[in-house]
Amino acid sequence: MSFKLGLIAILFAVSARPDTLAASLHERFNSQQAYAYTAQIAGFGERWPGSPGHKKTEDLIHQVLQKDGARIEADDFTARTPRGPIAVHNIIGKFNVSTDPKQGILILAGHYDTLFQPGFIGANDGGSSTAILLAFADAFAGQKMGMQTWLVWTDLEEAINSFTGDDGLYGSRHLAQKLASNGTSSRVRGFFLLDMIGDKQLGVARETESNRQLQEVIARAAGQLGYGQYFFQYDVGIIDDHVPFIQAGIPAVDVVDARYGRMGPTFDSMGEFHHANTDTIDKVSQHSLEVVGKGMLLTVELLDK
Ligand SMILES: [Zn+2]
Repeated sequence: MSFKLGLIAILFAVSARPDTLAASLHERFNSQQAYAYTAQIAGFGERWPGSPGHKKTEDLIHQVLQKDGARIEADDFTARTPRGPIAVHNIIGKFNVSTDPKQGILILAGHYDTLFQPGFIGANDGGSSTAILLAFADAFAGQKMGMQTWLVWTDLEEAINSFTGDDGLYGSRHLAQKLASNGTSSRVRGFFLLDMIGDKQLGVARETESNRQLQEVIARAAGQLGYGQYFFQYDVGIIDDHVPFIQAGIPAVDVVDARYGRMGPTFDSMGEFHHANTDTIDKVSQHSLEVVGKGMLLTVELLDK
């Protein structure tokens, strides 16, 4: 956009809607800041529950939510795990909360813990999702919308041993059950999980258990932005934090890139960097954060209409 056109657009927006900010929600997404948050979080080191890096991440989330004027809520409990009891802290930041008890809710979520593995930094797996939600908080600050928007940082997503039985998804299972039992789940119009979306070869999977209609809305948003090629070019089913929300009757989508780097029988099923100590900040791309960040916030705008 040229400067002149930009100025006209701003003048038009200001004169037509004097009490709203000129830029629309997705235009407020700052990918440079999202990348800076990712680097900061990766710099905290290992972030498994109970580690110093985990605590630093929690502090950063609280700090940003406070600055952006969110209503902060905690969902804390003790999980019984193969490693014994572990304190779990889901963090929720709510925006646009009205007095209407039936107000619709949109949720954007991602896990902020990392794998229990010495030397594992998780710049993409854990870092990118935590960071993009922080940049969403910055975009939501001061924006008026019809629906409530919640940012949810889930804790203890990673399995202690492996994703079998009840190992893994500890935080999301607890929160989903809570929303189902207190009646909030029926107000949730969409739950979007972001996972491993910062990699340099971006390709968001069409996750097969996810809600098809909401995937169509994401595809429409991506198409409008010229990002269609980055979304839904392959199908795969993934056990992730969206599953407990689907089980709670909430329409949910896993926005996940399940392929990165070399694939094949000698590597992890999600590529050579998945759950490997090579998942470091040099594997993360600001452009990928831009594509997913703008795409998801335009999705929110389309659903809020
Ligand atoms: Zn992981």
